[in-house]
Amino acid sequence: MAIERTLSIIKPDAVAKNVIGKIYSRFEEAGLKIVAARMVQLSRAEAEGFYAVHAARPFFKDLVEFMISGPVMVTALEGEGAILKNRDLMGATDPKKADAGTIRADFADSIDANAVHGSDAAETAAVEIAYYFPALNVYSR
Ligand code: UDP
Repeated sequence: MAIERTLSIIKPDAVAKNVIGKIYSRFEEAGLKIVAARMVQLSRAEAEGFYAVHAARPFFKDLVEFMISGPVMVTALEGEGAILKNRDLMGATDPKKADAGTIRADFADSIDANAVHGSDAAETAAVEIAYYFPALNVYSR
């Protein structure tokens, strides 16, 4: 399988629960490497831009409010099949439907406050990583 990069965001609910390290451990135990990381307080415009694909959805306004409710931990991950591997580690969008042992099953409270974001495809991963990190600040290792 190819070495890929993907963007993870530990959302405000999980940052507030102080589980950044626990979530990072899951990435590392699965063989994913952290190749860039920043804690960010998103502005409304940044959150709206990041989730622009969902602008017409009924939950968009609440999603933006939630994403700007506190700092998030933005992280680029690298590894074999990183995009799918991260999605598997995250679990389903709705934590009630997420498999036992996934990040969302263990740390998320609801479908909107669901602990983590993960890129869903190679194209979105490239765009999302570039949204937060200049290429210069992503370190293959
Ligand atoms: N979301 C929500 N209500 C919904 C569906 C999604 O609040 O009914 C939020 C949730 O935070 C989710 C994000 O919108 O993580 C993006 O939705 P998507 O379907 O892309 O899910 P994901 O890729 O994050 O699993």
